[in-house]
Amino acid sequence: MKTKFYLTCLTILLGFGCAKAQGPTLDYFFNKSTTLPWAKASIYFKSGSQQEIKFFPVNAPDICPFGVCNYTKDVNVEGKVTLLTELITEDQPNSFENQIVLYCFDRNAEEKRWLAKEISQIYKQGATAIILFSHKNEEPFIKIFEDNDLNQINIPIVATDKTNTESILQAAGYEIEEFWQNLKKGKLPSSKALICNFRLWIKGDFERIETPNLTVRYNNDLIKSESIREIVETNNRAQGFIYQLFEPIAPERKAQTVTYFSDYDEKLFYTSHWGKGFAYQGDVFSVFEQSIPTFELAVHEFTHTFFYKNWGGNMSFLSEGVAMYAEAMSIGSSKNNSKTIDYIKKGELLPLKDLVEIEIGEDSKYTQMGYYASGSFVEFLIDTYGQKKFLELWNLVRGWSKVYNKSLNELEKEWHRWLAKTSN
Ligand SMILES: [Zn+2]
Repeated sequence: MKTKFYLTCLTILLGFGCAKAQGPTLDYFFNKSTTLPWAKASIYFKSGSQQEIKFFPVNAPDICPFGVCNYTKDVNVEGKVTLLTELITEDQPNSFENQIVLYCFDRNAEEKRWLAKEISQIYKQGATAIILFSHKNEEPFIKIFEDNDLNQINIPIVATDKTNTESILQAAGYEIEEFWQNLKKGKLPSSKALICNFRLWIKGDFERIETPNLTVRYNNDLIKSESIREIVETNNRAQGFIYQLFEPIAPERKAQTVTYFSDYDEKLFYTSHWGKGFAYQGDVFSVFEQSIPTFELAVHEFTHTFFYKNWGGNMSFLSEGVAMYAEAMSIGSSKNNSKTIDYIKKGELLPLKDLVEIEIGEDSKYTQMGYYASGSFVEFLIDTYGQKKFLELWNLVRGWSKVYNKSLNELEKEWHRWLAKTSN
């Protein structure tokens, strides 16, 4: 998940025409008739005339859209626009003071360039916002991963497509065809103050609910606070239960931030990530579902997170096993065992050596069996040998014989005997 990208032309992707992607395509955001309740931009004149401009933010997954300061601040910028067509030099300290810079970032695409550095320079010269446009790509998509040059930047950076760029240029009095030709030939001045003004607003000051180990952030214009409070409460109880259950191996309490978005479009806008949820360096960004997860499901999911954060990942059978075990314990259920016994009675239960290899959740035939059997087997191991031994096994992954001094075969027989006893 943690990929390091530097922003060259490689990370500027064109046309995400992936039909199965979860979330709108970029066209949706650039379309003139789309309105977003959480963001708006326009060009305007003092007279009062104005036109909406559509844009998509430049996002860095670890800090999210530039300018919202980790979801603590709304973007609210307006002022004169300066058109920038050439790479600027570092020896002009205040050349863009209080200006919104409209920057063509790929006029010299044949040169090897580092856009992050250029953005950083524009920022240092006093710009209050940066609008990026491309003369090559219809719809630039710019996503930046962990770049030290940009860590300190607290001004908004957005990109517009060709159509919206042309709207700005037309307002400034340019003939479009001529403009693109002159730009290509390098005939335009490197920097020019335009006659029109620009205004940009992005909701960035998110509501937050903070508890000692969990912070939840969301836009309270879009998600009701009561539903979030309910989620926080359930998640907190689930965390508390897990610490109690796994007290013998004392998992370290790890703080977590979850940012909820009201729907796929909102999540995509703020994270540049298509899909329902993603985790980045332990923080989670997720589309909010109206149905509140139940306590036992929260226990299940958090068990995954806690084991992962404390001791790293593991094979499917142990990972799901411990989550199913905790889930069952949280509601005093013996379902894992009774379902496994049903499989045994019907002669359907796979041998343990095959069970441990199932990719639970992906195996179309044995997923259900895998869930119950893994939960039952982990309960047997913990009930018989304790959590410390289980943790040793977790760390060694397949070290059954090393940890328990028994072959998988022997453990299987013991497990079945234990099952017969517990079901009485
Ligand atoms: Zn699971």
